Amino acid sequence: MAGLPKNQMLYKRSYVYTLLFIAALSLLHAPLVLANAAAPLLNSLTFPNVVQTGQTGQGQITFSSDVSVDRLELAVVDGRYMRHDFELEGSSGTFSFSLDCTDYAQRIVLQATLLNEDGARSEPELITFNCGQPPRYDFTQQQAASMPMGQYMRLNVFVLEDQVTSLTQGAQTGQSNWWSAPSPLLIRALEDTILPSLNGIWDQCSVGFELGTVRVLHPDEVSIPQGSFGKLLFSKRGEERYIQHGGRVGAVMKLGREAVAQKLIEEGIAVGGEDVFVFVVGSRIYTSNNGKKLDIEGFGEVNHPTYSIVRWGAIHEQGSEFVMPKQFISSLAHELGHNMGLYHPGTDGLSNTASDSNNLMKGSGVAPEPRANLLPAQCQMVSNQIAQLATQVAADQASADAPATDAPISDGGQGITSVKQPFYTFLLFLTLVLWTSQSGLRRLKQ
Ligand SMILES: [Zn+2]
Repeated sequence: MAGLPKNQMLYKRSYVYTLLFIAALSLLHAPLVLANAAAPLLNSLTFPNVVQTGQTGQGQITFSSDVSVDRLELAVVDGRYMRHDFELEGSSGTFSFSLDCTDYAQRIVLQATLLNEDGARSEPELITFNCGQPPRYDFTQQQAASMPMGQYMRLNVFVLEDQVTSLTQGAQTGQSNWWSAPSPLLIRALEDTILPSLNGIWDQCSVGFELGTVRVLHPDEVSIPQGSFGKLLFSKRGEERYIQHGGRVGAVMKLGREAVAQKLIEEGIAVGGEDVFVFVVGSRIYTSNNGKKLDIEGFGEVNHPTYSIVRWGAIHEQGSEFVMPKQFISSLAHELGHNMGLYHPGTDGLSNTASDSNNLMKGSGVAPEPRANLLPAQCQMVSNQIAQLATQVAADQASADAPATDAPISDGGQGITSVKQPFYTFLLFLTLVLWTSQSGLRRLKQ
């Protein structure tokens, strides 16, 4: 600046002032410009507290009409219900909607959110209502009685991106197209609410669960030997995507679990043969009941904890507490029971489970209320099953190791692919571990 003549300096200074003035003006206008793209504002929401079973309830919302609003989303926080979306185009500040109650009594909790065209969301509001008069039973008391844990099992949780569950919100895409990192909210809900609740139920059998890997899975991107996991898993009827349990779906789930496990191993993540892979969807899950489609909350493989699939729609946080998704917790605890060898009362060969009305293993589609009881005879079955499983997993690993250690690597000069290599290395490592521990045992016996 020192080299500039005085009049040029003045010119420069006024130029800077003009720029500052323009900047200040545009800042003043900024809130007006931003307001058009701002998130919708939900002002009020009404819905009856009780609607008779099989009847329809009328609700209404009011919202700020200064901000653009595209749709109302009613996601399921708790209860056996499906998400509802309503188009709001053209409505000016008030919108009426109707919801049908199920033909059985239950408590339903929905999360209402307004969205604009860009997907910006209003603060969520809760709608809680009863269909008829659900029984008062809940499992809070059962959870409060904490019992010692004998063993822990690891749960790896995968939320399937299915355009229905809102648990995938806030996921962070990473390097793999198979999955995204889950939102911190989902992790907190799992750690603070789901796991302690599961453990509160399963401590009756001294079994605990710990959280392993959590991912938001893009099922269409996951390739399994027969094609795309998502395309094989979901059926389509019009716009609706659903899972039809039965037929090939069990095999597809097992292949999906294997593919995902292998991908995790490639990423250097430890996966145990006895880990349960929990797949979460918001979509409908149907099973066939004498040819009639029955809407169920989940299913799991009996006698081997390879996978469970369970429905869960949304998380709602009030202050620092989460609204307890009792239906999801109860369904997941039930499916884990199948994984650990339990059948439904009446088909389990146990004499006293059928008369236990709150038994955890009561069949889905019968009691929509959360169930949580486990009887000593069931715990004994689980304990036997876990012991058997440990032997089976060790045997599976040993048999998987045998061909892997001397596997013919030459296949037309290409060698094994880079995808398979870490897996084989892992198997080789397992063989070494098993071999050293076995020779250790032999030494102990001598
Ligand atoms: Zn069941």
